[in-house]
Amino acid sequence: QAKRQGRNTWQWYRGRKAESVKHSVAMRHDLHTALIEGHFELHYQPLVDAMSSRMRSVEALVRWRHPTLGLIAPGDFIPLAEQTGQIIPLGRWVLLQACREIATLNEQSDRVLSVAVNISSLQFCRDGFLDEVKYALKATGLPPERLELEVTESVLLDGTDPIIELMQTLVTMGVRVALDDFGTGFSSLSYLCDLPTHKVKLDRRFVQKALKNRRMAAIVQGVITMAHHMDMQVVAEGIETRAQQEDLTRRHCDLLQGYLFARPMPLEELKRLPDYLPAILAANKIE
Ligand code: C2E
Ligand code: MG
Ligand code: MG
Ligand code: MG
Repeated sequence: QAKRQGRNTWQWYRGRKAESVKHSVAMRHDLHTALIEGHFELHYQPLVDAMSSRMRSVEALVRWRHPTLGLIAPGDFIPLAEQTGQIIPLGRWVLLQACREIATLNEQSDRVLSVAVNISSLQFCRDGFLDEVKYALKATGLPPERLELEVTESVLLDGTDPIIELMQTLVTMGVRVALDDFGTGFSSLSYLCDLPTHKVKLDRRFVQKALKNRRMAAIVQGVITMAHHMDMQVVAEGIETRAQQEDLTRRHCDLLQGYLFARPMPLEELKRLPDYLPAILAANKIE
């Protein structure tokens, strides 16, 4: 009985595995087509000033409009794109498109939004990335001060010195660098000494756990205090409730991002969005 069960389990797993391999071969081909035919689009999520509830910047988040599967979230294709190297052309497109769309938005309104673009560590650590950034700024006219690059701790796994140099060059140009998903990686805190970053983004798991767990609250408070002593700003991701908003604001977190204020949205919606985003308005929209 146990043996039969084990065997069934194994067969089921093998079936699933074969299916997912086929699936990823198809996906890989589809990714290629999507790059050529332009099936990607960017959605934007506001970051609001914790004290004033005013939108300060937006984060560009890529989506894949698949002809048969519909809208696909980045979690379902970025890892594959990283495996196949397709993240390089995709990432280049994202950077250029984000700079172009936000530069145009700023020109067409009296807004001065900054845009944060997620950069895969493969893309960041590759020769030629600096040129991609320079090109995107030049081609779109976005001032360097309006561009922020979100990188994760994993950039540090790829030989630290050239990476620090690259970050310093970017900072000298006026481009800002933010550490995304802060605290979820494996690096030691001491690397913060050498990295010219402007911001840390507290991962939403931290933010959401801090309310229920005293130790997590201490970590969150510690990171905020430490970052401020290093002249960095702190963003709390994944703010979904008033209680989280109040908790993080009380802890002097600078910027808040989450469904409580606004979800990621297409550019057309962002254009109509007011700058003032009090949580109370959005709270009604949360299911
Ligand atoms: P991330 O950079 O940490 O982005 C934040 C993610 O949290 C986004 O998911 C956003 O939609 C989601 N989020 C925001 N507020 C809330 C909230 O209140 N509650 C919850 N539950 N989630 C919230 P998304 O768009 O699915 O992106 C997932 C990840 O994919 C991103 O995490 C980023 O690592 C990656 N990604 C997205 N766009 C790009 C891109 O253009 N290039 C690269 N390399 N990675 C990207
Ligand atoms: Mg991010
Ligand atoms: Mg993040
Ligand atoms: Mg995250």
